[in-house]
Amino acid sequence: MITVKELNEARVRLHNTVHVTPVLTSNTLNKQANASVYIKSEHLQKTGSFKIRGATNCVMQAKEQGAEHLIAASSGNHGQAVAYIARELGLNATIVIPEDANAAKEEAIRNYGAQVIHFGTTSEERIAHANELVDQLGATFIPPYDDTQIIAGQGTVGLEILSQVNNPEVVVVPVGGGGLISGVATAIKSIHPEVKVIGVEPVNADDTRRSLEQGERVSIDAANTIADGLRASTPGAMTFPIIQQHVDEIVTVSEEDIREAFVFYLSRMKQVIEPSGAATSPHCAREKLHTMAATSSSLPAAAT
Ligand SMILES: *Cc1c(COP(=O)(O)O)cnc(C)c1O
Repeated sequence: MITVKELNEARVRLHNTVHVTPVLTSNTLNKQANASVYIKSEHLQKTGSFKIRGATNCVMQAKEQGAEHLIAASSGNHGQAVAYIARELGLNATIVIPEDANAAKEEAIRNYGAQVIHFGTTSEERIAHANELVDQLGATFIPPYDDTQIIAGQGTVGLEILSQVNNPEVVVVPVGGGGLISGVATAIKSIHPEVKVIGVEPVNADDTRRSLEQGERVSIDAANTIADGLRASTPGAMTFPIIQQHVDEIVTVSEEDIREAFVFYLSRMKQVIEPSGAATSPHCAREKLHTMAATSSSLPAAAT
C-alpha cells in the first residue's frame, strides 16, 4: 500500500512543474458552515485541475524508464494534463476521447500538442482502444486514477493542505475513480490520524458509497450528473482498499446542491469552479462543521 514516503517523493518531483495553489476563504461560507472553511484551489492549478499532479508524477517516472509515446483515455482534465506534461517533457501523446467529446476540451488537448483520436462513447470502450494502441505503437498508458504514481501525485494536495491550514478537523474531497481521495487520505491519516476525511459523491454516482456499504466494489449504471469528473461507475481496484482503510465516510449531494454551489462560488467568490469541485461545499455548509478544508478539485478543508 502507498505511504507518505511516496507522497513526499512525488512532492519533490512536482516541485518545478505544478503550482502550490492557494486556500481561499469566504465569510458567507464560514457563517453557513459555522466553521472556518478553506477551499484548496486546484481550479487555479496548471491545466485547470489537480490531474496535472498525478500525471506529472507518473510521466516523469515513465520517461526515466524510456517512454517516448504516451496514451491516455480521457476527454477531460486527465487528458489535458497528460497532453501538457508530455509537451513539457518532449514526449508524444495520443489522447483517446469520445465521439461526442466536448469541443472546448478537445481543442485544449490539441493546443497542448497532443494527437486526438475519437473512439466510442463509454470510458470502457476508450480504455480498450487505448490499450490496443499501446500494443500497436509500443506506447505507455497513463491511467487516470488506478495507479500508485497517480495516487501519490494527487496526494500532494493533502500534504499542502496540512501545511496551509492550521489544525484542520475535517477534510472533504470529491470522489470519482478515487485517485484524489486515496492520495489525500493517505497524507492526512499518516500525519494526523485524528483528522476526518470525508468523500463526496453525487447522489446519481454513489458507486463508492455503495461499495463501502457492501464491503466490495460494486458497479452502478452510467451516472447522470452535471459533475462530469465524478461519473465513474465503480471505484478502482487499487483506490478502493485505500478508501476502505482511510476514509471515514462518503456522503452524497443532489444535482441541485451542486448547481447552487457552482453559482455560489461564481457570484460570491468570483471563482469558476467546475461542478465536480463545487460538489464538496454543500456538505460543508449543511453539516455545520467546526473546521474544514475542502479542495475545490478544487477541494474544501475545514479548520476552526
Ligand atoms: C478527476 C476529477 C475529480 C475526481 O478525481 P478521482 O481521482 O477520479 O476521484 C474531481 N474533480 C475534478 C475537477 C476532476 O478533474
